[in-house]
Amino acid sequence: MSNSLCKVADLAEFIRIAHPDHHFSKSAEDACIAIGTLVEQLNTHTVIYNILRNVVENGDLLPTTSLDNHVAQLFLFDFEQSGIHLPEEKRKLAVDLNEYVLHLGQRFSIGAHQAKLVNKEDLPSHIRHQFALEGDNITINGLYTDAANEIAREAAYKIYLYPSEEQEATLIKLLQSRNLLAQLCGFPTYAHRTLRGSLAETPEMVTSFLDSLTAELKPRAAKDYNTMRNMKKKMHHSSKELALWDIPYYTGVARRQLTGSGEDFTAYFSLGACMEGLDFLFQTLYGIRLQPTPLKPGEAWNNDIYKIEVIHESEGFLGTIFCDFYDRSRKPHQDCHFTIVGGKELSDGSYQNPVVVLMLTLPAPSWGRPSLLTPSMADNLFHEMGHAMHSMLARTRYQHVTGTRCATDLAEVPSILMEFFASDPRVVSKFARHYKTGEKLSMERIEALCSAKHSFSASDMQQQVFYSTLDQRLHNSNFDNGTCTTDILNQVQQECYGLPIVQNTAWQHRFSHLVGYGAKYYSYLLSRGVAAWIWQQYFQENPFSRQSGEKFRKGFLAHGGSKPPHEMVASFLGKDVNPTSLTQSLILDLDMKQEALQLLLRQNRSTRFF
Ligand SMILES: [Zn+2]
Repeated sequence: MSNSLCKVADLAEFIRIAHPDHHFSKSAEDACIAIGTLVEQLNTHTVIYNILRNVVENGDLLPTTSLDNHVAQLFLFDFEQSGIHLPEEKRKLAVDLNEYVLHLGQRFSIGAHQAKLVNKEDLPSHIRHQFALEGDNITINGLYTDAANEIAREAAYKIYLYPSEEQEATLIKLLQSRNLLAQLCGFPTYAHRTLRGSLAETPEMVTSFLDSLTAELKPRAAKDYNTMRNMKKKMHHSSKELALWDIPYYTGVARRQLTGSGEDFTAYFSLGACMEGLDFLFQTLYGIRLQPTPLKPGEAWNNDIYKIEVIHESEGFLGTIFCDFYDRSRKPHQDCHFTIVGGKELSDGSYQNPVVVLMLTLPAPSWGRPSLLTPSMADNLFHEMGHAMHSMLARTRYQHVTGTRCATDLAEVPSILMEFFASDPRVVSKFARHYKTGEKLSMERIEALCSAKHSFSASDMQQQVFYSTLDQRLHNSNFDNGTCTTDILNQVQQECYGLPIVQNTAWQHRFSHLVGYGAKYYSYLLSRGVAAWIWQQYFQENPFSRQSGEKFRKGFLAHGGSKPPHEMVASFLGKDVNPTSLTQSLILDLDMKQEALQLLLRQNRSTRFF
């Protein structure tokens, strides 16, 4: 039943989001609403719920495996999200709260992206031209981190992040309602409820992971800030202290300085070259080919979609990847992996092969020139392809837990692992070549490019730890109406971040990920820790090892979410996964890359800022 429902719901949802023809997307929206109503009826179906609960608690009539039991528990937990197990009055409250949370989340997200209007007289005349001017008003719609003028960055920062009473009120209500909802279902806080079934398992584990990272990062990030301070003095003769608005600017400058301008590289990263690189990598690691296949009439939603069949050397056809890579009107600008059909074992013993879509926004080919990617676009392509491989190589009994249908902090592991491949000179040298001449990119330039990606990575990571800690702190405590989230932000900043607080700003009012990721923003860092560990243990010595590829396939990818994540990862790595071990693998990776970067800087004296 779950398979039949998802096959309709997932496809309809994708068409609603992606189809360029309004008629199709409108019909898909109707389908989404219809199937959503049916799913809601099933989610509140007490007869099915009671039978399932009885099976989970007392065992089934037929013999079951641990995998069956695990998936049954996941379904039971999903049922209980809407409070089906509660007495009538509390159940009604839970339903209302769920709706209210949804509404508050939407309101907060809209507010988080709202531009600020100021009178032009409020800004010094020499920086006004940096912003959009309309009549007497200046619109500030972001942090202008690329602006070379320091005053412009500072002004944008202070105006855009000026505290909003409305956002504050919405955020407090959102956090309170989420906690109340969690407590109705028997959890101490919303974070406890959200982290159930994740790789981290508890907020205590996440907090301890973030704390140990904070301690390790402090001296390393301080070095980064010192380098930035020197850059600021040398480049702009500025006597002002390094501030929050300087960080993304100088990080960008340093990366460009190390590699030369981004333009120089794109000719070596045509989409064709990158896809050949991926094909080569997957052949060596897993014995599979990415086979371009012509579209059948009417098979795709637009005429620039590529269809790729994934073929294993002995197992044959494994699944289909549709690549939706180029921009068009109404297409969402977000790199994304969509599951259209989830893989699963069928009752006749055959396997339902997966179908996925990868959505990216790459430059379209133009006359005589293929699609040319910047190195960071190539990284994104590798990342999304990691998700696709998770779907293609999973072999699960149930579609509910296939491939990327697993805990958020586990789902990013295969994709982040692909970023390690995309930043390894041995891998890049296999495919980076000029689209016209076929000339290979020199090893020297590849090494510069790969190292540049890691400049200021300690300060980058410290920022991610800061945001993750804030997200945890907000979702892991109870607030009364007197709470001020700016106090919490400032406290967390003092504990985790290496730069001083800016008075009269409220960064959290713009942190829209609090809605979608609520209590799970740490996931990316945790996944990164696991990916670094897998890289070090299996691929660092030889990124083309078939033996390691097979181990990763069988011990990780094949399972999707069909096993409890912590148990699966620990058994794959052969060691306990805990805050200390994860911190170690992240810091080891950071230090190794810093060493490579320092070596490059010593060799290359033309990089004058360091
Ligand atoms: Zn991802």
